[in-house]
Amino acid sequence: PKKIKVLNPVVELDGDEMTRVIWQDIKDRFIFPYLDIDLKYYDLGLPYRDQTNNTVVHEAAEAIKKYSVGIKCATITATPARVKEFALKELWPSPNIAVRSVIGGTIFREPVIIPRVPRYVQGWRKPIVIGRHAFGDHSKAKERVIDGAGKLEMVFTPKGGKPETIEVYDYPEDGGVGLTMYNTTRSITEFAHSCFKYALSKKMPLYLSTKNTVLKEYDGHFKRLFDELYQSEYVAQYEAVGIAYEHRLIDDMVAYMIKSEGGMVLAFKNYDGDIQSDIVAQGFGSLGLMTSILVSPDGRTFFTEAAHGTVTRHYRQHLEGKETSTNPIASIFAWTRGLMKRGELDGTPELVSFADQVEKACIDTIEVDGIMTKDLADACKGTETWVVTRVYMDAVDKRLRGLLAEGN
Ligand code: NAD
Repeated sequence: PKKIKVLNPVVELDGDEMTRVIWQDIKDRFIFPYLDIDLKYYDLGLPYRDQTNNTVVHEAAEAIKKYSVGIKCATITATPARVKEFALKELWPSPNIAVRSVIGGTIFREPVIIPRVPRYVQGWRKPIVIGRHAFGDHSKAKERVIDGAGKLEMVFTPKGGKPETIEVYDYPEDGGVGLTMYNTTRSITEFAHSCFKYALSKKMPLYLSTKNTVLKEYDGHFKRLFDELYQSEYVAQYEAVGIAYEHRLIDDMVAYMIKSEGGMVLAFKNYDGDIQSDIVAQGFGSLGLMTSILVSPDGRTFFTEAAHGTVTRHYRQHLEGKETSTNPIASIFAWTRGLMKRGELDGTPELVSFADQVEKACIDTIEVDGIMTKDLADACKGTETWVVTRVYMDAVDKRLRGLLAEGN
């Protein structure tokens, strides 16, 4: 068949261990045979990061900024144990954090829904997408244990102005604890833009949830900025596609989330998002079905990956020559979600529809053929049998050929 021409380059970031093995297989089966694509390849595998003193990570991040779409395989985050295992020169920082610091923006986590695979929360029939504001608040707080009696104050000194003292607490003899945290109008505004743009592209309603009844000023600022932006820039676009934005108190929001059938984007502050994204991931079941996309504030740069790691346990078995039953779906969807964005940016619907067919092939193989990896069969609690990754990939391959033949 004639290959689809991808008009602009895509940045590919290779990774480590089991996911690196699967990554190559995905390209050989679903990318190279069908696409005429200029991949800007960066090897983010730990050995090459070490060899280049981590510069490859920064080059890759700059390339994503330049070309707008980056697709990443899972990578090892260095730890003291990994420093030993790989005889690393240094304990290199996480590549994900480096990429995020260049691109900015917000990470959205979205589960892949397969009706045949039951969810822990059975009512969830559509994805719940979590956007977490990954800046400030608790992660930048200054905190301390207060040992004895005394007064805690917060002092703000305006540039060129007089210090302003806010009394926090007068501690008794046995002291206690205290903390100060902050965020910036700029970061919250960028977070809001990423959320508004992403929910709009998914045609799903957006909810910001905070506890502004308690933190009237702090969380109130988040709410006010979101409200103002919605009114000034997004309301007409939202109404045009039949969705809306709303603020909800976080306690109402989580109760509503559990009862709902899904199908919404939820924007959370840093700490809330950390917790809620794990609750949602667990509620949907397998880690192998959780995808992740970083969206820049201007909504024009995208960075996709699986939300899981390199599946080290399976890689050890692979090295012993054993076949593993590793779920490749989140890694495949890193490719398809990235290619969809490439197609949207370039105005090439044939690329978007190809990516869509690959996703459909992955889902139908499970839903219709009942062919799945062990993690999903386990979620089905014994009602399904499982196959190794290669057998699942063969079945997806076959389905994809069928779908593409139908379309032609
Ligand atoms: P992991 O996600 O690789 O595995 C966690 C658990 O989930 C394991 O029991 C694993 O068997 C299971 N699992 C995860 N994905 C699966 C899949 N696709 N199919 C079947 N089972 C799956 O996390 P980990 O074991 O904590 O970490 C392994 C390595 O991955 C570490 O070096 C860590 O630094 C790295 N990591 C990278 C990223 C990333 O690149 N974004 C994220 C998390 C962890």
